[in-house]
Amino acid sequence: MTTITLVQGDITRQSADAVVNAANSSLLGGGGVDGAIHRRGGPAILAECRRLRASRYGKGLATGRAVATTAGELDARWVIHTVGPVWQGPGSDPSLLASCYRESLRVADELGARTVAFPAISTGVFRWPMEEAARIAVETVRDAETAVEEVTFVLFDERAYEAFAEHVG
Ligand code: ADP
Repeated sequence: MTTITLVQGDITRQSADAVVNAANSSLLGGGGVDGAIHRRGGPAILAECRRLRASRYGKGLATGRAVATTAGELDARWVIHTVGPVWQGPGSDPSLLASCYRESLRVADELGARTVAFPAISTGVFRWPMEEAARIAVETVRDAETAVEEVTFVLFDERAYEAFAEHVG
């Protein structure tokens, strides 16, 4: 059983075996969580992302997929980068958002990570409505077959925290 915990705060201050980044497919940085992780984690993370782009991920990381790098100076062993889907309006397919959580946990299992911190993927620049994104996130983690013992959702503000709290009993 995976324990689900909610924290309100900055994911770059969280300590965990693996911290998940709401990346974009370029893997070369962006705003929001991505910018914060690269700022606080230092240049080692970007250097490894560049190596991924130069090797296995020449076209970038596809939406719904996940890949790990060092966590640089973060209080974690790894950053797991995943690319959420952009909200396309009502009827947007939630399966790619669910895939981000599943794939990140699969990568965490490969690494042997026991504790994983997630942000609310796709709810920032990618505009996914918080209430729906929270439901998908919690249900997907709850249903995942994983050896990860604790998943912490690190929510930036009270609105995000409350949305996730609706789904965590
Ligand atoms: P995406 O491009 O997947 O939408 P963003 O990084 O723009 O990703 O936003 C995802 C969510 O993370 C948003 O709810 C945003 O408010 C939140 N967020 C932004 N910075 C941080 C941070 N440092 N720690 C935790 N959550 C953050």
